[in-house]
Amino acid sequence: MAEELIISISGMRGIVGENLSASVATDYGSAFGTFLKADYKKDDKLAVCIGRDSRPSGQMLESAVAAGLCAVGVDVVVLGLVITPSVGVMLRQLGCAGGVMITASHNPLPYNGIKLILDNGVAPSVDQAAKIKEIYFAREFSYVDSPSNGRIVYNEDSYSVHIARVFDTIDVGEIADKKFKVVLDSVNGAGGPITKQMLAKLGCEVYAVNDEPTGIFAHTPEPTEKNLTGLCDIVKQQKADIGLAQDPDADRLAIVDENGVYIGEEYTLALAAKNVFSKTKGKAATNLSTSRMIDDLAREFGCEVLRTAVGEANVAGAMLGNDCVIGGEGNGGVIDLRVGPIRDSLVGIALVLQLMAESGKTVSQLVSEIGGYAMIKEKFPADKNKAAIIMDQAKQMFADAKIDTSDGCRFDLDDGWVHIRTSNTEPVMRVIAEAKEKDVARKYVNDILALV
Ligand code: MG
Repeated sequence: MAEELIISISGMRGIVGENLSASVATDYGSAFGTFLKADYKKDDKLAVCIGRDSRPSGQMLESAVAAGLCAVGVDVVVLGLVITPSVGVMLRQLGCAGGVMITASHNPLPYNGIKLILDNGVAPSVDQAAKIKEIYFAREFSYVDSPSNGRIVYNEDSYSVHIARVFDTIDVGEIADKKFKVVLDSVNGAGGPITKQMLAKLGCEVYAVNDEPTGIFAHTPEPTEKNLTGLCDIVKQQKADIGLAQDPDADRLAIVDENGVYIGEEYTLALAAKNVFSKTKGKAATNLSTSRMIDDLAREFGCEVLRTAVGEANVAGAMLGNDCVIGGEGNGGVIDLRVGPIRDSLVGIALVLQLMAESGKTVSQLVSEIGGYAMIKEKFPADKNKAAIIMDQAKQMFADAKIDTSDGCRFDLDDGWVHIRTSNTEPVMRVIAEAKEKDVARKYVNDILALV
């Protein structure tokens, strides 16, 4: 059964050969170009840079989007095979009015997508995304005559520019002295080449698997525990210091400790934040569904955590608005504004290696120092009406909790928290609970499920 083409604030996502075709991508490129032109003065010549992950349909979609942009008079800089955060770095480096990343992130191979980024490095706001969607469906493209068509140029500087930006956040020499042994699993996405290059410059001995960017994923691409058993085994066999796993567009990072134990994506942000907090007192931003570990660390170092609605653009927006020193999401997405307001596995890797180098501690030691929580996630079917009723009942049930309603409801209690929200893409509600004791987290989830 053909699925619907999804157009959301982060762009368009669909199945190649079914609903995501070259003509759809060209029109979407024209819609984005038309939108950007409306914001600029008439004489400004605009440029947009385009990157793609390793999916075999990437070049087709890259060419199609480029054609759509040129047709409305926008110049295009083709970056080629890159990771999503590199598009953010390059658009600012080149002074582009926007960026496009061809990726379906952690979705399986049949999918691809077109992700839009504005000149501030963040996805369009809800209103801006609605405007782009309106232009796309109404086909109100501001096509130009022949001499005014956009031109295409090619740029191969993404790896070196991005790595240099990441190295501004760490002490390269201090890490290189440690000669860390690292196992890297890039799941045949776009991450392999640039990450191997960065790790080599950091003096690491790298054992890379699934590093060829073929787009034919060696395992289910989301970097979760059940998909990374192979990586865990190799870390143990190789007696490596750390195992690193990226999703196909390498904005997410999961870590395996020196014993071959998957530590959980929530620790990626916690470890990165620990390194940053230890050097700079400041604010951090993360979404309502992310672990309390970052709050514990912020308290330890005299820092502060801001919570936002779920969605990378919300976290990035809060970081930009509050000059946050670190931020991101519990799914392994670390954001450091010194590099850019986009989740970036390279930043995550660099900050964690810096923490290891400075402290002289292993990953498992650092993890046990931070301590942990049990987190339980469930989802259940619920339409809008049912969701509203459940939210009301939950508010009565957790009347003593500190309640945040900026995205669904999050109830903060002394021994844990529970967050319920409706999904943006499917008619389901998600419930996430976290507590020191697993039984307590389970109880909170069950309390919500009992309302269903
Ligand atoms: Mg991703």
